[in-house]
Amino acid sequence: MIVLMNIDATADQVEQVVAAIDARGLRPLRLPGGEHVAVGVASAIAPQARDDLAGSLTALPGVSHVVHVSRPYKLASREFHAAPTEVRVGGVSIGGRECIVIAGPCAVESREQIFASAEAVKSAGARVLRGGAFKPRTSPYSFQGLHLEGLQLLKEVRDQVGIATVTEVVDPHDVETVAAHVDMLQIGARSMQNYSLLIAAGQSGHPVLLKRGPSASLDELLFAAEYILNQGNERVVLCERGVHPLDRTYTRNTLDLNAVPVLKDISHLPVVVDPSHGIGHAKYVPDMARAAIAAGADGLIVEVHPNPPQALSDGQQSLTPEHFTALMATLTRVARAVDRDLSAG
Ligand code: PEP
Ligand code: MN
Repeated sequence: MIVLMNIDATADQVEQVVAAIDARGLRPLRLPGGEHVAVGVASAIAPQARDDLAGSLTALPGVSHVVHVSRPYKLASREFHAAPTEVRVGGVSIGGRECIVIAGPCAVESREQIFASAEAVKSAGARVLRGGAFKPRTSPYSFQGLHLEGLQLLKEVRDQVGIATVTEVVDPHDVETVAAHVDMLQIGARSMQNYSLLIAAGQSGHPVLLKRGPSASLDELLFAAEYILNQGNERVVLCERGVHPLDRTYTRNTLDLNAVPVLKDISHLPVVVDPSHGIGHAKYVPDMARAAIAAGADGLIVEVHPNPPQALSDGQQSLTPEHFTALMATLTRVARAVDRDLSAG
C-alpha cells in the first residue's frame, strides 16, 4: 500500500501518516518521489484490514489518495503508476507512441570516429547517439575507453551535430562528471546491482538507461530501478540486452524478448531492447531489432560503427552505416504494423 501526499503536504503531515502506520504495528517506508512525497507500507497487510487502513489513512490531513501495490518494488510498479511514463532525454521522449532508436559505436575511439558515427546515425533517423567513454571489459588488457577525453568528445559532438547522447558510467564518483557531459547515463549489465552507483544515479536526477544483468530476473531489474526511483529520480528507462545463453556457439547472449511485454505490463517505465549485445553478430541484429519493436519495445539501442572491422570493441556485432540505414526503413514498417511510429526526428 502507498499513501500519496498532496504536493503541498507539510513534513508534519507526512510524519502523522508514518506514525499512523507505525501505530498499527506495520513498517512505514518514506518514499521521496519527484513531485509528491509518498509513504509506503512495507509489511504485508491482512486482506480484511486493508480497506479499514486505507480509509483511515485517506482521512489524514495532507493525504491525496491511497494506492494498493502488491508488488515488492513499489515505485516501479504499474499498480503505483497506471499511465506509462515518458522519459525526456535531451529533446527526445522515450515511452510515448513513437519508438526511438539509440545508435552509435560501442566505444568512443577518436574525434573522427565519433563524428562520423553521429552524422551517419542521425541522418538514418536515430534520435540518440551512444558511445562508451568508460568500457567495463572482461579482460583488463582490452581497450578501456578514452575516459574524460571521450566525455569531452561526446559533448562536442552533441553540440555540433545536434543529437542527444548516452554513455555508460561505472563508478559512483564519476556520476556528476558524466552527467555534465551527456544527456543520459547508462548503467551497464555488469553494474545493475552496484547499489551505490544506482543511488548516485538516482541523486543526479539525470535520465538513466538501466541495463538488465545477464543473470538477473525481472524482479531484480525492477528492484534496481527502485533504487534510482526512490532517490526521487523518475527518469528511468529499462533495457533488455540478453541473458546468459545455453551455449555460445552461434550467439553471444539470448535476447529475452519475453521481458518486453512482461515489463510493459508490470511496470510503467519505458523498455528498450539492445539486439547488438543480445545476439552478438551483426548479421543477426536486424531481425532481432525488428522482433523487439514487434514485441512492444519503446525503442532500441544498436551498435553502429563507421568501420566495424577496425572497431576497438564489439566490431563483430556493429552494423555499418549502410546496414543501419536499411534497417531503419524496415523498422518504420514494423512499428506501423503494431500501431506505433518510428520517431524520425
Ligand atoms: C555496451 O552497451 O557497450 C555494454 C557494455 O553493454 P552491456 O552492459 O549490456 O554489456
Ligand atoms: Mn558494446
